[in-house]
Amino acid sequence: MLESAVALAGRLQRREVSATEILKDLLPRLEARNRDLQAYVTLCPEQALEQAGEIDARRSAGEPLSPWAGLPIGLKDVLCTRGIRTTCSSKMLENFVPPYDATVVKRLKEQGFIIVGKTNLDEFAMGSSTENSAFFTTRNPVDPERVPGGSSGGSAAACAAGLPPLTLGSDTGGSIRQPAALCGCVGLKPTYGRVSRYGLVAFASSLDQIGPFAQTVEDAAMLLNVISGHDPMDGTSIPGPVPDYLAALNGDICGLKIGLPSECFGEGLDPEVRSEVEKGIKTLESLGCEMVEVRLPHTDYGIAAYYFIGTAEASSNLARYDGVTFGHRAAGAGDIVEMAGKTRAEGFGAEVKRRIMLGTYVLSAGFYDAYYLKAQRIRTLIKRDFENAFQACDLIVTPTTPTTAFRIGEKTSDPLAMYLSDTYTTTVNLAGIAAISIPCGKDAQGLPVGLQIISPALGEEQLLRAAHCFQLAHEA
Ligand code: GLN
Repeated sequence: MLESAVALAGRLQRREVSATEILKDLLPRLEARNRDLQAYVTLCPEQALEQAGEIDARRSAGEPLSPWAGLPIGLKDVLCTRGIRTTCSSKMLENFVPPYDATVVKRLKEQGFIIVGKTNLDEFAMGSSTENSAFFTTRNPVDPERVPGGSSGGSAAACAAGLPPLTLGSDTGGSIRQPAALCGCVGLKPTYGRVSRYGLVAFASSLDQIGPFAQTVEDAAMLLNVISGHDPMDGTSIPGPVPDYLAALNGDICGLKIGLPSECFGEGLDPEVRSEVEKGIKTLESLGCEMVEVRLPHTDYGIAAYYFIGTAEASSNLARYDGVTFGHRAAGAGDIVEMAGKTRAEGFGAEVKRRIMLGTYVLSAGFYDAYYLKAQRIRTLIKRDFENAFQACDLIVTPTTPTTAFRIGEKTSDPLAMYLSDTYTTTVNLAGIAAISIPCGKDAQGLPVGLQIISPALGEEQLLRAAHCFQLAHEA
C-alpha cells in the first residue's frame, strides 16, 4: 500500500520532502506507466513543476500554507481548467481551452494542490468502460486486457496505480463508484448539492455530482473537505457550513444498523462478487454493526428511469454544441443549419448520438407523458424507497457492481449489457443521496470487488466513518 496523501502532506509540512521532489519522483513514473495505462488525455508537467516551485518557496519563506499544499492531483477531463484544455474525451471539445476554473478546481488551487493532468473518460461521461472516449481506451491497472470501468475510468485507473493516489471524478449514474470498484480504489459520490457543479461540463444536471477517488477513506474525506460547500455560482449547491469529514472518522461504528436490500443481491449478481460482499458484511458485523433486512422495491426500474431522465437532460445540455460558441465547427457548410448539423455529426461519437436521440425522443410531444413523466414518477418512488428503508437503518450496503472488470470489447456491441453495470448505482443519483465504493476483496482472477455503502442525504460523516472502520478492519 502506498503512503496516504494525508501522511504525505504531514511530511510536506515538516519539510521532510518538497512539492518539487514529490513531482520529480511522480512525473517520470506517471509518464512511463501512462503509455500503457492511457489514463490521461493531457499531462501538464511544466505547469505542475512551476506551481510546486512556488509552493516550496512560500513554505521556505515561512508563509502559512494549507496543510495540503503541494499534494499532486489528477482531474477528470470534464472539469474546466483555465488554460488547460478540457476535452470531455470528445472530438467536439478536442481543442477547447476554458477561460475559467471550475469551482472545485479553484478550491484545490487555493489549497495548494498541484494539477498533474486531465484524465480520460467515456465521451461526455456517457458510458461504463472508457471505451466511448473519442481518443483511446484506458486500461485497468490490475489487468490491461480489461476495462477500468467508467465513465471516470482514467481517474480510477490513475488513482489505483498511485499516479497520483488522489483524483477527482464525476458521478451521474455510477461513474465514480463503478470504476473505483473495478480498479480497486475508494470512490465517493457526495449528496447532490454538496459539491458545486460550476465548471463541470454538464451531462444530466439533476444527477451530476463531483467526488473524490483515493486509496484510503481518510484521503477521500480530506478531499471532500476541500471541494465541498456552498457556491453562489451553482443554484443547486447546498447552503450552510460543511462538517469536518476528516474529524468525523474518529470513533467506532458499534451499534450501527446496516440495511441489506434483497433487491440488490438477486439475479444478475456474479456469485464471486456476492461472496466477497458477504464477507464484507461479516466484517461489518464483527465491528458491532447490526444487519437488518430492508426493501427497495423499485430498484428494478432504476436503470429505465435513469436512462430516460439522464438522456432527456443530456439532449438539452448538449444542444449548446452547435459550432457557434463551443468547440469544433465543421468546415464547408452552406448555411448555419447545415453547419450545426455537420458539426454535430462530426463532433459526437456513437454513444453520445444515441443518448441525444433517445433523450429527444422521450421529451417529444406525444411521448413525454409515457416516458419522461413516468420516469420522473419512478424517481419519486425510488426516493421514497430509500426514505422508508432509512427509517429502519442508518446505512445501506450493496455490491457496487454486478460483476468485476470485464474485457475490453466484451460489451461494446450491446449497449443494454453495458447499461446493466449501473444496476446498483443509478438509484442513488436518482434519490440525490450519498454513497461510497470501497475495496472488499478479489475474485478468483484477482480482480477487485467493491462494496457500496449508501447514506441518507448529507449523511457523509457517518458514511465515511463506517467506510473508514471497514477499510481498517478489512486490511488488518
Ligand atoms: N455508466 C452510466 C452511464 O453511462 C453512468 C455515467 C455517469 O455516471 N457519468 O450513463
